[in-house]
Amino acid sequence: MPKGKNAIVTGSTSGIGLGIATAFCEAGMNVVLNGFGDADEIEATRAALEAEHGVTVRYNGADMSKPDEIRDLAAFAKAELGQVDVIVNNAGIQHVEIIEDFPDEKWDAIIAINLSAAFHLIKNTVKDMKARKWGRIINLASIHGLVASPFKSGYIASKHGMIGLTKTVALEYAEDGITSNAICPGYVRTPLVDEQIADQARAHGISEDEVIRDVMLAGQPTREFVTVEQLGATAVFLCSDGAASITGVSLPVDGGWTAR
Ligand code: NAD
Repeated sequence: MPKGKNAIVTGSTSGIGLGIATAFCEAGMNVVLNGFGDADEIEATRAALEAEHGVTVRYNGADMSKPDEIRDLAAFAKAELGQVDVIVNNAGIQHVEIIEDFPDEKWDAIIAINLSAAFHLIKNTVKDMKARKWGRIINLASIHGLVASPFKSGYIASKHGMIGLTKTVALEYAEDGITSNAICPGYVRTPLVDEQIADQARAHGISEDEVIRDVMLAGQPTREFVTVEQLGATAVFLCSDGAASITGVSLPVDGGWTAR
């Protein structure tokens, strides 16, 4: 089991990232949290995880759109935890708009945070993993890394790119004890999705309840949102020895969404 391993989880002040960080702590792993939010709330979360699980938890507020801050995040984690064994590239943003009106700056920010940040964090941590012959790279893609939907050009391009990056890293480090995999969630009820419910209602010209029923969960055969706890358990499994031969995979955790 991954007990005692050290992880960076980007975008872990909220939603899926926080769910994965919590599952890692429950599994006895030490974690560097990252993401934006209220400083007092983040400190309370950090301290509670540390106290409840008897592990080391640190926080670094690197802006994942900035390569120099990502470099500093990797150095911070190494200094605080001794080494970095696992990275979870999870920080992500969304913007829902038809392409002809899609703001240039939104496109650039989505590609920077959802895709380029993963490249930079991998680049700044993988050499040490290679030297130790053990590492786990977990990238949060999406079902929208596998299929498209209208009005999400930036997000879908970034998530398809994330899957390409995941496979390339898997091949480059296959002989070094390092696995690289993408988790592809269906809809998970997090702050990111709550915002989309309002945006999609506007884009489709329907009510928020109709967005949940007819847009989001219409394609999810279980008719239930995926939970952050399920994604945390998936990430812990990918860190385990049992998952050592799973690499280059894009794993849907989507209630059957991509089975159709
Ligand atoms: P969320 O909005 O709840 O959390 C996003 C996290 O990223 C937050 O901690 C936020 O502070 C952080 N973040 C945003 N911009 C950042 C930046 N520039 N630098 C550092 N941190 C930044 O979102 P979520 O739903 O938990 O999504 C997490 C990941 O999972 C994203 O990559 C998202 O695309 C993916 N995902 C989500 C769903 C879903 O249904 N919620 C489905 C598939 C994939």
